[in-house]
Amino acid sequence: HWIQTMKIDYIKTICPYCGCGCGLILEVADGIIVNTRQDMDHPVSKGHLCMKGWNAHEFVHHPKRLTSPLLKINNQFQKISWDEAITLAMEKFKAAADTHGPDAVAGLSSARCSNEENYLFQKLIRAGFHTNNVDHCARLCHGPTAAAMTRALGSGAMTNSIDDFAGADCIIMFGSNAAETHPIIMGQIYEACAKGATLIVVDPRTTEPAKNAKFHLPVNFGADIPLINGMMRHILDCGLEDRSFVSQRTEGFEAMEQALELWPMERAAQISGISPEKIAQVAECYARAQNASIVFCMGITQHTCGTANVHAVCNLAMLCGQLGRPFTGINPLRGQNNVQGACDMGALPDFLPGYQGVTSPDVRSKFQAAWGTPLPVTPGLTVTEMTAGAGETVRALYIMAENPMMSDPDIHSVKNRLGKLDFLMVQDIFMTETARLADLVLPGACFAEKTGTFTSTERRVQLLRKAVSPPGEAMDDFSILCCLGKELGLDFNYTDPGQVMDEIAGLTPIYGGIGFSRLAPHGLQWPCVSQDDPGTPYLHHQTFSRGRGLFVVPDYTPPMEIPDPDYPFTLVTGRIFCHYHTGTMTRRSPTLSQESSTPFVQIHPQDAQVSGIVQGDGVRVSTRRGSIVLSARLTRDVKPGSLFVPFHFAEAPANALTHEALDPVSKIPEFKACAARLEREDKY
Ligand code: SF4
Repeated sequence: HWIQTMKIDYIKTICPYCGCGCGLILEVADGIIVNTRQDMDHPVSKGHLCMKGWNAHEFVHHPKRLTSPLLKINNQFQKISWDEAITLAMEKFKAAADTHGPDAVAGLSSARCSNEENYLFQKLIRAGFHTNNVDHCARLCHGPTAAAMTRALGSGAMTNSIDDFAGADCIIMFGSNAAETHPIIMGQIYEACAKGATLIVVDPRTTEPAKNAKFHLPVNFGADIPLINGMMRHILDCGLEDRSFVSQRTEGFEAMEQALELWPMERAAQISGISPEKIAQVAECYARAQNASIVFCMGITQHTCGTANVHAVCNLAMLCGQLGRPFTGINPLRGQNNVQGACDMGALPDFLPGYQGVTSPDVRSKFQAAWGTPLPVTPGLTVTEMTAGAGETVRALYIMAENPMMSDPDIHSVKNRLGKLDFLMVQDIFMTETARLADLVLPGACFAEKTGTFTSTERRVQLLRKAVSPPGEAMDDFSILCCLGKELGLDFNYTDPGQVMDEIAGLTPIYGGIGFSRLAPHGLQWPCVSQDDPGTPYLHHQTFSRGRGLFVVPDYTPPMEIPDPDYPFTLVTGRIFCHYHTGTMTRRSPTLSQESSTPFVQIHPQDAQVSGIVQGDGVRVSTRRGSIVLSARLTRDVKPGSLFVPFHFAEAPANALTHEALDPVSKIPEFKACAARLEREDKY
């Protein structure tokens, strides 16, 4: 009755969860969001949302939201004023820099914050503290994508648009369970299948896409390079390569062709675990397709050979000329709503905004002139290097809306290291597992409480519109950053995020034509270089962003930790449909929590039987890093000898088990394979 008598405002905005960037409408009554509904006109979601989107408002007014700055005194948090918090924060960071040098300060920016906030964050760290120690969780998902695709093609982003999937006649999904992680994109892929496209899924697990695919290739863990090399060798043996594309558009092919001599079908099949017949069939299917598209995700990137894996994917697409046209391309699916934007904005230790390298004197002079201060020359530390150096090289750490105590590998070690810092400041909307370790906690705002832009996985920059105010004394992150910048003496006198976007456009060629006034109704896809540029639905038409596409011979290395008699299983971590990343938001949503409230491990029935485990039993999963107790879920969706644990549950954190083995190029940890042990837990 109350809702029926209230005036309802309808605020069009963007989903706060995955990188699909679906449009949604928040229904607001008397300052409270009472419902979420779909945006019928949105060009990507077209009136659809997944379960997370439909319930996007449910955590916003949660009673446990942070409402004032909190200072830890004698191990207890006490409320302090914003003035005290801002002064104290900057005193502590300046003290660390003065005593130990600028690189003693580091910052983790956030894929959940807007482009404008990410831009200000990296500007604060670079111009305010003169260090490039700024990174964010893209390191833990698509670090290899950025490294390899930038090297091979000149751009680390999805080459095509989400709409393109529906027009492809062959789609290969490598290590992506988009049905759970990017449901709206999966809808487009199924639309293509309904029109006759062939779906090929490469995944050790029998996921929903795998069950619906024409070909499911349950590749051995970490063996994507042998599989792809086997496919390429077969394509060459059959003369199915696109010779004119290779000769006119690429370089480095001779070395690649030579390297493929070492990958006869028998070797590829033996290491990948896929039969020669199946490798040949899918290779021919991809090469013969008029328009073939590749989708990939964490199954490719989260390996110690992650960067090499992405190079292998790029090699395959270039060999067959499946790039630079609609309905084709290489399409890394970005996991978080603004992980693309956070990268675009230079929340990376080696790039200023727009992927302009920090080591380039010309780039530095441009930003120095605009920001009025000298900028650091040396690339900074990555996420994993920051936590590894905490308390030693890194003395003061600012974490904005990230939760490494859930997202980083080997969290026992992360906790130990964060505890050694001189000063840890966390800005978030809830008291997260990481915020609990902080010296100072600043209350930020969520997606519904701010104005700005997010950039989706298809490079679409979209407007985020404020629907309600943050609770209590909490402030939007843009305002907090402005206060911190001014306290440091920087010119952070911005009055609204649109001014920040204008500054971004002036310094960042790929965003050169983007301004708030051009983003209604449904955004622009970068590169958008001038005011009359309509944006770019697909990249690399006629020429690659780097000129010629580069074949890079990928070195195959097996996972760093393989099963042995003490730890006989391969453990894989990942996401599930109704939860999002570290669970900060979805686990506080009643509807989503009800859908899946208990941590679980997927076990093959054969393995369960050997260990005397039945459905719903408590089990202990252990690795050399730690052990967790959770509920057994028996399914043939995992291979015998493997276990799958979602990483959303703080009460049984999957990352207590994972290890810190890193890809040497991108520094991504190997979340997709480590050795584990399984035991029945009687006291569950
Ligand atoms: Fe939100 Fe992604 Fe679901 Fe779309 S697919 S509603 S962006 S979580």
